[in-house]
Amino acid sequence: ASTLLNDDPAAMRDEGAGPVYGIEDLTAARELRAALADLEGATEAWLVPSGLAAVTVPLIALLRPGDAVLTTDALYGPSRRFLNRHLKARGVGADFHAPDASVADILAALTDRTRLLLIESPASLTFELADVPALAAACRERGVLTVMDNTWAAGLAFRPLDHGVDVSVQALTKYVGGHSDLLMGSIAVAGPAVGRPIAETIEDLGWRVSPDDAWLALRGLRTLPLRYAEQARSALIVAEWLQARPEVARVLYPALPGDPGHDLWRRDYTGAASIFGVVMRGGSEIAAHALMTALELFGLGYSWGGFESLITHETGHLDLRRAPPTLGGELLRLHIGLEDPADLIADLAQGLAAWRNAIR
Ligand SMILES: *Cc1c(COP(=O)(O)O)cnc(C)c1O
Repeated sequence: ASTLLNDDPAAMRDEGAGPVYGIEDLTAARELRAALADLEGATEAWLVPSGLAAVTVPLIALLRPGDAVLTTDALYGPSRRFLNRHLKARGVGADFHAPDASVADILAALTDRTRLLLIESPASLTFELADVPALAAACRERGVLTVMDNTWAAGLAFRPLDHGVDVSVQALTKYVGGHSDLLMGSIAVAGPAVGRPIAETIEDLGWRVSPDDAWLALRGLRTLPLRYAEQARSALIVAEWLQARPEVARVLYPALPGDPGHDLWRRDYTGAASIFGVVMRGGSEIAAHALMTALELFGLGYSWGGFESLITHETGHLDLRRAPPTLGGELLRLHIGLEDPADLIADLAQGLAAWRNAIR
């Protein structure tokens, strides 16, 4: 992973002879970068040690003191923390638009300082979809850069760079890894104007991935389309079942007909992630916890995109927002894995019985 032995001392100083040391990326990382660039329709793609680093590196690379970022109020929590703590302390401002804002409203929120629009679509926890092609085109016209967190589409169901976005990032931790056994992020660009500062920032910060991890991500890529499609198929079955239950007020899932983002999703996406929000009818934290602990197949755990189904209780995380939404009930997040959806539904029926007991 670190040392490369040479036969010829002259090759050790030859810039064109390939890597001389592990931090320059060895074979597995280079193969993975090439495959991801291909997948994203990118001129180049880089690897960083986490999905969060894939979000933060382009911002570090492209923003300067005095600039500001505009993003959704439903942004992934750790990305929000990076804006509010790290960037703020270095003179970069952050503005937040409503998660369901129209394109016109988002453009109206751009200021003279706004250098970059950070898009996350669908957004975290409440899964609002953005009109990415329209936003990318309008931002380009105004000289505002666009960076999109595309973890939900796994670089597969939506290709941001094809729609005019400048930088597409994703947490490979989720679907590309696919087995909940690695942390990694990728950053893909359409050209050198944004690519060069990103490459230099990665070099300066020394953020690389180990060959073993790159190999795991490469192996995940081989089955990505199969897992992604199968999990989406199951997720829709489970989401439709939940939507019809009296304990459930609303399922937040763009792939579900009737979801506010459904038309945009049908227009722009060729598939869906297997994660959605479930707004319960009223309830309490105690009832949510009773539901969760009654489940046998769903793990109580963060992350998603792996082989196994997971559930989290998210009501408290909404308080981080500038304008927390009033959903009228507890918010759960479900990730659907590769289990049989009939088994998952039977498990959820058991969870809903515990929910009813707890609110009785
Ligand atoms: C998980 C996640 C990340 C961060 O990925 P890590 O590898 O856990 O750092 C970034 N964005 C979104 C939308 C995510 O869900």
